[in-house]
Amino acid sequence: MGAPTTPATTGTPPRPVPGVPLADRALTRPRRRLVAAAAALVALAAVGAGSLLDLSTPAPKSADAPADAFSAGRAYEDVQVIAARSHVAGSPANEQVRAHLEQQLRGLGLETEVQDTVAPEAGQLSGAAGGATLARVRNVVARMPGTDSTGRVFLVAHYDSVQTGPGGNDDAAGTSTILEVARALTTGPRPRNDIVFVLTDAEEACLCGASAFAASHPLAADGGVVLNLEARGSTGPVIMFETSRNNAKLVDIFGRAAPHPVGTSFAVEIYRALPNDTDFTAFLDQKFVGLNSAYIDGGAIYHTPLDTPAAMDRGSLQQHGDNALGLAREFGGTDLTDLRSGHDATYFPVPGGLVRYPGWLTVPLALLAVALVGALGWLTRRSGRASTGRLAAGFALALVPIIAAPVAAQLLWLAITTIRPGYAELLDPYRPIWYRLAVLALASAILFTWYALTRRRIGPAALAVGGLAWLAVLGVLLAVAVPGGAYLTTVPALAGALCGLVALRTRQTGPWPVVAVTAAAAVGVVILLPTVVLLFPALGMAMGGVAALVAVLLGLVALPVVDLLHPQAGGQRGLLALRARRLAVLPAGAAAVAAVVLAGVGLGVDRFDAAHPAPTHLMYALDAGTGQARWLSHESDPQPWTDGYVDGVTDVGDDFPGLGDGELRAGPAQSANLPAPKLEVVADATAGGERTLRLRLTPQRVARLATLHVDTSTATVLRADVAGRSVPVEPRAGKWGFGLVFHAPPAEGIEVVLTVRPIAGQVSLRAMDASDGLDALPGFRPRPPAVGVVGSHSSEMLAVARTYPL
Ligand SMILES: [Zn+2]
Repeated sequence: MGAPTTPATTGTPPRPVPGVPLADRALTRPRRRLVAAAAALVALAAVGAGSLLDLSTPAPKSADAPADAFSAGRAYEDVQVIAARSHVAGSPANEQVRAHLEQQLRGLGLETEVQDTVAPEAGQLSGAAGGATLARVRNVVARMPGTDSTGRVFLVAHYDSVQTGPGGNDDAAGTSTILEVARALTTGPRPRNDIVFVLTDAEEACLCGASAFAASHPLAADGGVVLNLEARGSTGPVIMFETSRNNAKLVDIFGRAAPHPVGTSFAVEIYRALPNDTDFTAFLDQKFVGLNSAYIDGGAIYHTPLDTPAAMDRGSLQQHGDNALGLAREFGGTDLTDLRSGHDATYFPVPGGLVRYPGWLTVPLALLAVALVGALGWLTRRSGRASTGRLAAGFALALVPIIAAPVAAQLLWLAITTIRPGYAELLDPYRPIWYRLAVLALASAILFTWYALTRRRIGPAALAVGGLAWLAVLGVLLAVAVPGGAYLTTVPALAGALCGLVALRTRQTGPWPVVAVTAAAAVGVVILLPTVVLLFPALGMAMGGVAALVAVLLGLVALPVVDLLHPQAGGQRGLLALRARRLAVLPAGAAAVAAVVLAGVGLGVDRFDAAHPAPTHLMYALDAGTGQARWLSHESDPQPWTDGYVDGVTDVGDDFPGLGDGELRAGPAQSANLPAPKLEVVADATAGGERTLRLRLTPQRVARLATLHVDTSTATVLRADVAGRSVPVEPRAGKWGFGLVFHAPPAEGIEVVLTVRPIAGQVSLRAMDASDGLDALPGFRPRPPAVGVVGSHSSEMLAVARTYPL
């Protein structure tokens, strides 16, 4: 196997070259190649622009928009009331928000009530390591009775916020959208089906409001269709990112009825792998079907004090509302009795709509792609464009950029976070666009460099087929492991193989080979560019390598177009070839320079300041028994401000089991004069070796949550009831082998009944409560302007604990 040789002399235009693959033969003259490359790139840029335009948000409608339309202007007025301040479940501020919601819904003439109950956590929240979790919740529920109902449509959003921020987006976006959708629905003819507006409480704490509604509200008894509305950022398109199982019919309605349907079956797969949860989790059982939507870009402000109404992109709010209203009307008029189809759909956005096909097609399509790429390879060999050895080498070498680009993207981010450690505590930088572009430039540089180095030895045809082969193989792997994501590589591989076959079979002197390879690259752009764009905010820069991987896959589909950038078809020798090789490094060099410049611009532009502070995590824990107090931080590598409070690493599991497991940074603090929660024995009876303790746990200050743990070396917990509800007694690790966490404890306290088998004498219990805000603590120095608060459920928490031997 030798390099294809063709005599070419300098000074005369090179003659057509036998053995030059795909589009090359008609294009051996540099000027013609340049024209073809320019035409192909313009076409691809147009397709890319169309794809990006399809992901843009609609213009927000003003407050004087027609009454039957959704107006972001009107909804935003509610956003300002809901998110005026932090309103965590159980707080007086949350009571004011609830009063506003009730008033608005009643004002529309809807039957409105408050479901006031105690409920356990839905699903399994990460970080809820304290033990069984419950909350006192107050959901606002309003019903619009249908004219001839076949079932219920539930529009769900949570109205509570985190303690660290006002929740201007999370979830004033969903809550205000539901109010405005309810208003718009009341102006038109009444829908056939019941529409139920469910504004839940304590989502941030434990999804307990949604859990209470799904499990015990009479309107939820027969199930129905749930549309959950969320925001995990401040901007970007609203993505329908989660569905119930067997979603084909739901997705079909979504594609038809949502005016701006952005959603992909790949997101469903990613979301399942991420440690996130929303209210929708509480509805994922037999009774309900549904769709979960959120906008997620601008994640830097998520759960922080910066998540204010002013931070909201009202275009995102408009899209939430347009889609929710369209879906409410469609589901409101559809026969809801049979929305569960036997399969999941594959779906993804394309300009102008949502492509969907049944999930059972995933494996056959993946195998077809393998077969067609195989046929392309066979024909390529038969036509003399590449030997078997070169095809094998092309396949092996195509793995290089597939691995190198994501690794390089991760290393780039490692370098950037080394320069700016504050990024470690952010979901995404405040201005991530420069870093995202840097990752794409880096992926391009790697692909172009790899191509320039391998092209002459292996040949363009073998490399193009090798790249497609990887896409086809990945399609099979995804079809088996992550079926919703298989389309990402299967469809471009199919398009590449079909267009490659066309390019081989058409007259090589005409424009058709170039048209064919450009068409294949266009399919790659339509399928993969939105994925790249949506993956960045979904995963954050810390996982930018995933977007780099997808970008390289797009590059592999477009290799024959990339080849046109090389000023000379393969095979020439001499001075011209030397000049051509020098020119061939231009795209690679340009992309590499761009990557460095873009990363540098990012570091220059995205500096921390008062409006974009570097988030820090701090909490305070006081042992009321010993008087010992500590500052604690979750930061693994504390930033300068946090460093003023903490030094060594500690495990607080023995002293503060309510804070969960895991190592924290800790430092000594002055003891504040704060009362521990009171634990009173209401009744105490022993019979048959079992001791039953009826206890009342009452925080002595305004507390967001209270916890109670039992030292299981002193007694084995047999049964536990909290506020009349039985809770699981599965042991947790460590000294405090049984625990419970109660959010939004009522002023009169929480009744806990424990049935235990004593092991030795007294039973040892540890009670803790937690409030928010460190400002009043002795020794606390306020943050300077450019230092902010991490958006986490334990940020700024003030915990007081005490042991009670009973
Ligand atoms: Zn949230």
